[in-house]
Amino acid sequence: MTTTPSPEPHRSTTTVGIVGAGPAGLMLSHLLARDGVDNVVVDNRSYAEIEQTVRAGILEAGSVRLLVDSGVSDRVLREGDEHAGIEIGFDGRLARIDFADLVGSSVWLYPQTDVFIDLAAARSRDGGDVRFGVTDTSVDDLTSDRPVLRFTDADGVPHELRCDLLVGTDGSRSICRRAIPETQRQQSFREYPFAWFGILCEAPASAPELVYSHSDRGFALISQRTETLQRMYFQCRPDTDVENWSDDRIWAELQSRVNVNGLELREGPITSRTVLRFRSSVCEPMRYGRLLLAGDAAHTVPPTGAKGLNLALADVGVLAPAIRAFLATGTERELDDYSVRALQRVWKAQHFSSWMTSMLHLPPDASVFDLRRQQAEIRSIIDSRAGSTYLAEGYTGWPA
Ligand SMILES: Cc1cc2nc3c(=O)[nH]c(=O)nc-3n(C[C@H](O)[C@H](O)[C@H](O)COP(=O)(O)OP(=O)(O)OC[C@H]3O[C@@H](n4cnc5c(N)ncnc54)[C@H](O)[C@@H]3O)c2cc1C
Repeated sequence: MTTTPSPEPHRSTTTVGIVGAGPAGLMLSHLLARDGVDNVVVDNRSYAEIEQTVRAGILEAGSVRLLVDSGVSDRVLREGDEHAGIEIGFDGRLARIDFADLVGSSVWLYPQTDVFIDLAAARSRDGGDVRFGVTDTSVDDLTSDRPVLRFTDADGVPHELRCDLLVGTDGSRSICRRAIPETQRQQSFREYPFAWFGILCEAPASAPELVYSHSDRGFALISQRTETLQRMYFQCRPDTDVENWSDDRIWAELQSRVNVNGLELREGPITSRTVLRFRSSVCEPMRYGRLLLAGDAAHTVPPTGAKGLNLALADVGVLAPAIRAFLATGTERELDDYSVRALQRVWKAQHFSSWMTSMLHLPPDASVFDLRRQQAEIRSIIDSRAGSTYLAEGYTGWPA
């Protein structure tokens, strides 16, 4: 029997190897390059695939500042929509949480696809090395001082990239996280008994700001994308099959859940439908040897508080200076400090997302007691300046 020898890998070096070209990976690459730190980013999806994946839409004020002040782009300020509040639909009425008045801040509606386009364009403009469409990614020698990133590029050429540091920004199914021995990480995990049925539809906006609607049929979120395209969600069972839902059935369900004065839900053809499961997870610490984790690779949150994308950007806002300090001093404590500091925000966001979720969604086995208690909790927020301020602080994002 003859075997074909595998081709010798192309060997090269860089200072920081980054796995994953989502918001965390590309923003980190940009921040490091700005500081003169060489880096290479690899992603197993093509540019077109990432660009077409519809996900997050809300940016905290701090995320917008990071994009603009770091020189990625100011397109968000020109084309994004600033929202100075949200509406809570409850008890047949709309209650506005006025971020501007309560905490002097706001959020921006700016789709994750545009964040990706801006970041990828900035890397391209600045001569960044980003390889899309790679396969067979693996990381090794994590506790040595020259960890390695192996991958096969889009032309089928195998590569072995030696680095000073590796960063796993490869999303919730991270191979980097799984490369850390289980004995060396604490994995916290919670699965929720519901999911979101998400749609994109061709219709005018029903409201100028996001509407988070509580009802005894379950939760619904009315959000916007453009003047003619809208994003909406309603709480469903995790095993819901989108094929069983016609447009008429979806609209009837949404209408029944946003039955509040002052809101007319505008309908239109539904162009996409997905079920989004709810999971919370945190991997601690966010460092193992010369491997660091950031973004969804280290933690995921249920989408209710709109924190996932923002946390990914916040992580790398802390990681980039930590890497710079490590490279300047050789002191590993800088890397540990990254994990400690990032995790403080991660756990606040976990709490906030979990709290918003449990306040607004009805568990499948909810009793009358549960429903009444939940209604009282929502009243305690919307009828109280202190309660509304707490929500506004968490939603717009805590200071860096
Ligand atoms: C439907 C949906 C709605 C959401 N809504 C919101 C919202 O409203 N607000 C909010 O803040 N967040 C939201 N999120 C979460 C948000 O999208 C994520 O938190 C965010 O994308 C995390 O960024 P990231 O860079 O850490 O990871 P990702 O964006 O997941 O990027 C990881 C990248 O790594 C690549 N990769 C994975 N494995 C490998 C490998 N082996 N080799 C090479 N590359 C690899 C992937 O292709 C991907 O491009 C939503 C998520 C979903 C799915």
